[in-house]
Amino acid sequence: MPASVVISNKGSERLRAGHPWIYRSDVAGAEVEPGALVLVKSERGRPLGWALFSSTSQIALRMVSFDKNVDDATMWRERIAAAMAYRDSLTIDATARRLVHGEADRLPALIVDQYDDVLVVQTLCQGMDRRREAIVAALVDLVKPRGILARNDPKVRRLEGLDETIEVWHGEVPDVVRVREGRIWHDVDVRHGQKTGLFLDQRENHLAAAAFARGRALDAFSYHGGFALQMAGACDRVLALDSSEPAVAVINANARANQVSNVEGRAVNVFDELREFDIANERFDTIVLDPPAFAKNKASVTGAIAGYKEINLRAMKLLTPGGYLMTCSCSYNISDAMFLDIVTDAARDARAPMALIERRLQSRDHPVLVGVPETSYLKCLVLRRIA
Ligand code: SAH
Repeated sequence: MPASVVISNKGSERLRAGHPWIYRSDVAGAEVEPGALVLVKSERGRPLGWALFSSTSQIALRMVSFDKNVDDATMWRERIAAAMAYRDSLTIDATARRLVHGEADRLPALIVDQYDDVLVVQTLCQGMDRRREAIVAALVDLVKPRGILARNDPKVRRLEGLDETIEVWHGEVPDVVRVREGRIWHDVDVRHGQKTGLFLDQRENHLAAAAFARGRALDAFSYHGGFALQMAGACDRVLALDSSEPAVAVINANARANQVSNVEGRAVNVFDELREFDIANERFDTIVLDPPAFAKNKASVTGAIAGYKEINLRAMKLLTPGGYLMTCSCSYNISDAMFLDIVTDAARDARAPMALIERRLQSRDHPVLVGVPETSYLKCLVLRRIA
């Protein structure tokens, strides 16, 4: 007999609405092993599907199947194979890509990023963490990587009662992995870089920016120059700003390694620098804004709105007529509609007539699961200053 967990009618409603998470408050006291694969039942005892159980998180159950039976031994490999087949079908012009994107690949809380022949894995719930062996075996068999690194340092693991660790799970993982994104090479420190090393979710937006970039360009919140380096070929000059000195050192090193001579990295606070540019009457033909998530939780939404508005307003003022603005928000707590409102307010206050050219998302290897707003976080608007 498999372990089973009874959920409230409210929980059943959520499942019917298509959401794969059941919160602790909708679970009737469960005596189940942490991380177990459990049969989920309605209040009346009807089987509803299968889920991974967490003994500590507010997300008590993450649904993995609505089939009558599941095979804990084989299902993970099948799903990883399906996730890979989808990525292969995208013909991504890069040697770094996301192979597994959690819930959207029916592999809750599992992330797998590929950097050339190295895989970086995150197991962010008890259930996935306990299936480490099966996951590693499947990845070794399917990808045959040189090494697998567990970047299990995200804080969310604390909510699952899991420790924060970075360790090699298979083979050998070099300090630096060289990957290509379009025409640009990046040396990636998979152990210490932000996220799993690069912002792979922006890869397609980097290339999209290169398509309209021109003249004098500004890449604000540049990290390792993901936008700046792609845009350089189409621009006279690109200024890349980031507050982190080490990040700016990487921008400049990347520029040299790619024989790009018109990108300059500068370690500054973007808020201050945009103000300085305004005072000095500087102008740009292309601006990218890709700040960190200003709204990390609901409590910080008001401050975040003010922050997004300020940088967008200033950027619009700095744009030449005909110039392009690509503006991003990766705050899940700021919805698409809110972000468009912020940008609209900024345009009005900047007295900058702006046309919306494109609405973009995270790259296609980071798919959004419909009905699960938590999987949709990256918003990216392309605007053009029309006068
Ligand atoms: N655009 C990058 C990702 C940016 S992540 C890419 O596509 O790869 C956000 C970056 O903003 C981080 O590198 C962080 O160091 C930087 N940052 C955060 N606050 C900042 C500030 N006030 N001024 C400048 N940079 C800042």
